[in-house]
Amino acid sequence: MKSKQFLLDSGNINGYYWKIVVNIRENGSFLNKGNITLYGEKEKEYQKEYHKRNREQRITAMKIWREENSDHINKYYKKHNKSDEAKEARRKYRKTKKGIENHRKDTAKRKKNFGFIALNKPFSNSDAHHIDKQHVVYIPHDLHNSISHCVETGKNMEGINQLAMMYIGKQPK
Ligand SMILES: [Zn+2]
Repeated sequence: MKSKQFLLDSGNINGYYWKIVVNIRENGSFLNKGNITLYGEKEKEYQKEYHKRNREQRITAMKIWREENSDHINKYYKKHNKSDEAKEARRKYRKTKKGIENHRKDTAKRKKNFGFIALNKPFSNSDAHHIDKQHVVYIPHDLHNSISHCVETGKNMEGINQLAMMYIGKQPK
């Protein structure tokens, strides 16, 4: 299976930076990662410039990846016999009073079982990532979005958690 490389760039975290290359398979799952590169305060100006120059490139790369990934997801659903008729029926159901009510109930039920024990502190542009149903790690938004994942289904959790734990391991106290 083919994979695509992505360069993740933390941006400035209190004068501290890191970069890492991750390989994502065509189906969106996590393949492997390269060595993390760390930078201190003296690299700040260079990093600022680098971040600016690469922002567009990263946005484009992530967009392409999402498009390829959505293609894969569509194929997956087709293979699993999700007909257009079935999709249309579900779409209609979700708009009915009963559909809306059931969706609300399901969401509330799920959220009730989730804890929010934070392993680190939030910072600007951080997302709260649930490493499991109880614990939350604040990681940079870009890092959080680098691997699509779901704590409920377990989808890609190993990959995103590796990055999250690596991140808090290197984060200045
Ligand atoms: Zn998350």
